[in-house]
Amino acid sequence: MSRQTNATSKPHVVIVGAGLGGLQAARRLKRADVQVTVVDRGTSHLFQPLLYQCATGLLSEGAISSPIRHLLRRQRNASVVLGEADAVDAQARTISVCRPDESTMTIDYDYLVVAVGMRTAYHGNDSFAQFAPGMKTLDDALAIRRRIIGAFEVAETLPDAAQRRPWLTFAVAGGGPTGVEIAGQIRELATLALEDEFRTIDPTEARVLLLHGGDRVLPSFSPKLSERAQRTLDELGVETVLGVHVTDVTAEDVETTSKAEPHEVVRYPTRTTLWTAGVEAVPFAGVVARALDVEQDRGGRIPVEADLSVAGHPEVFVVGDMSSRDKLPGVAEVAMQGGRHAGAVIAHAAAGGTEREPFKYRDFGSAAYIARRHAVVETGKLNLFGYLGWVAWGVIHIAFLAGMRNRLGTVMSWSATLLTDSRRERAITFGDPETARQPYR
Ligand SMILES: Cc1cc2nc3c(=O)[nH]c(=O)nc-3n(C[C@H](O)[C@H](O)[C@H](O)COP(=O)(O)OP(=O)(O)OC[C@H]3O[C@@H](n4cnc5c(N)ncnc54)[C@H](O)[C@@H]3O)c2cc1C
Repeated sequence: MSRQTNATSKPHVVIVGAGLGGLQAARRLKRADVQVTVVDRGTSHLFQPLLYQCATGLLSEGAISSPIRHLLRRQRNASVVLGEADAVDAQARTISVCRPDESTMTIDYDYLVVAVGMRTAYHGNDSFAQFAPGMKTLDDALAIRRRIIGAFEVAETLPDAAQRRPWLTFAVAGGGPTGVEIAGQIRELATLALEDEFRTIDPTEARVLLLHGGDRVLPSFSPKLSERAQRTLDELGVETVLGVHVTDVTAEDVETTSKAEPHEVVRYPTRTTLWTAGVEAVPFAGVVARALDVEQDRGGRIPVEADLSVAGHPEVFVVGDMSSRDKLPGVAEVAMQGGRHAGAVIAHAAAGGTEREPFKYRDFGSAAYIARRHAVVETGKLNLFGYLGWVAWGVIHIAFLAGMRNRLGTVMSWSATLLTDSRRERAITFGDPETARQPYR
């Protein structure tokens, strides 16, 4: 076991999680008289809102992620530790981190910022996870890419149409932004990028089912924008099934049960089911809650005070998707603004300040991509859809990506796809039997 103690006399700020919230907290502390250690279980900061484009071959994993060390290279007061935080000792003010070599590292803190996000929730049906991956991490996106591209490849070599059908049927559980985006992208992949590449199958016949419990897709948007989105999905050829629960998933099919008529049970033969129907706190949230003696909310989030610190622990902050305050949504802006706020409060305290500003969230709205030249954007009273929405969506997402190189690379990939219809980021391999054949068990 190794130990990282604070070698300087400056307050030591440990930030767990270098996602959208954690990175902003670190950056906000750049000029503060503190020492910052950023701990993440991955080496890269990931921009989750474009994960579905990585999963469907439009963007590379490098375009939507940036090495944390690179992003913080000019921040002399910050260092980075690769490892998974798995314990907190609130009395001793230390966290334990499991390193890649399975050793444990103990890190002392004066301030702790927890920004570890959420993970996919299967609502008590954990057995679905092996057949229906969620989309929260880079690994998830690459696993989904493997399944989607692999399904077309398998279908191409099967002798008759009945055998090919389940391989060319893709079911997406959840009609929120992520479900709508991935469903639309699978249809676009099939109808534009793959159209001329196969000899036996016609990829444009790919059936995409969007299975949703509510009575309209994109329930967090206004009914008018939901309707616009639905129209575009219909035009794309996505089959939307509303008012159903997904009640079973196997390697060969997915079952839905009508919410209104529970005896109406339908099984759809499919070899690819994707899950976007909910999130829950990562296990580390429970560790933090127990260590700080606070109760998690229903989704496992940790309640925070007005300044985003935890009650009774003014030195510990929870920001982003994992924090619970005023029913703020789990979206990028909340995480980024929360991270900056926690950083500002710590910087102020480190400079001798005693008052703490409450966190005030500025809602800039939300956006969802439906299809090429179709997106919906809702900001205050302004609703954009169709081509205008699509341009606004593109500008917003480019602005949020970390690093100039990723921004330029993404604009170039989008432009190339628009001009040529091709999607080049489709590499999958079947070298490692453990991971590669998993979808087909
Ligand atoms: C597919 C998808 C699409 C989305 N689209 C949109 C959108 O269009 N617009 C929008 O506003 N929001 C969108 N979101 C939500 C947005 O991405 C999140 O709200 C935001 O990323 C939350 O930031 P965070 O810092 O709380 O967590 P994250 O960004 O998830 O970062 C958490 C970090 O913590 C690390 N971590 C986790 N556990 C540990 C541990 N124990 N030890 C060390 N490190 C750990 C992870 O590796 C990760 O780097 C989307 C999310 C997803 C998954």
